[in-house]
Amino acid sequence: MRTHEAGALHGDFDYSALRPGWLGVPEDVNTLLPQLWAQNVERADDGVLHIGGISVEALAAEFGTPAYVFDEDDFRARCRAWIEAFEGADVFYASKAFCSKAVLRAAAEEGLFVDVCTAGELAVALAAGLAPARLGLHGNNKSFAELRQAVEIGVGRIVADSFTEIERIEAIAAELGKRPNVMIRVNVGVEAHTHEFIATAHEDQKFGFSLAGGAAYDAARRVIQAEHLELLGLHSHIGSQIFDTAAFEISAARVARLHAKLQTDFSVQIPEMDLGGGFGMAYTSQDDPQPPADIAASLRKIVDEECTAAGIDVPRLSIEPGRSLIGPTMFTLYQVGTVKPVTLAGSAARLYVSVDGGISDNIRTALYDATYSATLASRSSDATPALARVVGKHCEAGDIVVKDEFLPADVAPGDLIAVPGTGAYCRSMGSNYNHVPRPPVVAVRNGEARVILARETVDDLLRLDVG
Ligand SMILES: *Cc1c(COP(=O)(O)O)cnc(C)c1O
Repeated sequence: MRTHEAGALHGDFDYSALRPGWLGVPEDVNTLLPQLWAQNVERADDGVLHIGGISVEALAAEFGTPAYVFDEDDFRARCRAWIEAFEGADVFYASKAFCSKAVLRAAAEEGLFVDVCTAGELAVALAAGLAPARLGLHGNNKSFAELRQAVEIGVGRIVADSFTEIERIEAIAAELGKRPNVMIRVNVGVEAHTHEFIATAHEDQKFGFSLAGGAAYDAARRVIQAEHLELLGLHSHIGSQIFDTAAFEISAARVARLHAKLQTDFSVQIPEMDLGGGFGMAYTSQDDPQPPADIAASLRKIVDEECTAAGIDVPRLSIEPGRSLIGPTMFTLYQVGTVKPVTLAGSAARLYVSVDGGISDNIRTALYDATYSATLASRSSDATPALARVVGKHCEAGDIVVKDEFLPADVAPGDLIAVPGTGAYCRSMGSNYNHVPRPPVVAVRNGEARVILARETVDDLLRLDVG
């Protein structure tokens, strides 16, 4: 068995043989790729990562590790960029990507609407002071209580996902003497993820009313004919981490045809159409997302053409970005606990860098085989790049945060590691596995840091364990 000797890192072992084909050996392991990092993050002259002028060492000293560090100025700038690009349309922030009062308030202040899909997310939006009319309620199994609350307080739109729900919303509206705006979630049979999509996806999934099977038409008719419901429009959402608007083209064409048919058959004007979210962001050097202005131009062109082809006026559009708005605005700051070189066949080797978090703060690598990047954050290094795997502290071999990344070969216990792109679906999918309390979210705005979501404590966990 080989042991961890300083010399071995450079001599006997080959620390690049195991790298995947897409991952190049960096010329300078200290370089930050701009597309991976929030706008106000930089490596300062002293080699330390700074955000809004504050060093990660200062953040770690004040707030501890692990911590999600949030560039609020960048988030607000991204909100404005989407609003500007989609002028004349409505932009809904999909709060399931990351949901906290400060973030929802910031989104609303910048002019966004907000989507929620449970009573919990709705409670955060209301606690943040958002007007119910600026909210949308989604989900395939909204409880009677959730629907009732939504109708009662006047949530701007409810996206219906089943006939059972339409019946429930109608009964509630009749009882309360209200007329809620309802959208019909259409299962368009398009499935898109990353760089590929399937135009004829099997419609065998839980969301929406099948377009091909006729359920979407029947559901819309039901709402049009309901005394107490207003059909606001059709809604589709075709996937996540999408880089190519070709999938939207097919889905928009299908939705526009149904929209036209409903207007003709029932002599109604359907005012809106929602194209969903799912716009991609960069996690590694491989990802190259389009700017919102380019996405907006493509989507407008698609919808204009499809509506012209279907012989209808262009309805008011809405979109629902989650990941692309919040994802790039956070990084997770960890402290290294142990570094272990592991050799495989021959001299091929990898450094296992264990940090003080793991699948409890980022389950996406384990769950989706997601790729992330990482950098040594508390200093720069002249050491050679070594293929590393950033792993957590959980009792689970799949507890991997970053599967493949080059870190300087001298990375050592006590160093800080930053993993960018963790704003979406990390804290919001966090768990207490192994009774590890969830990390705080520290927001940096105008050069000042504050906690917007507190660190959970073992006492918080014990409070629920009533024996
Ligand atoms: C998840 C979801 C979104 C947001 O998806 P992102 O990939 O985060 O942009 C938008 N709309 C609906 C209906 C969703 O379920």
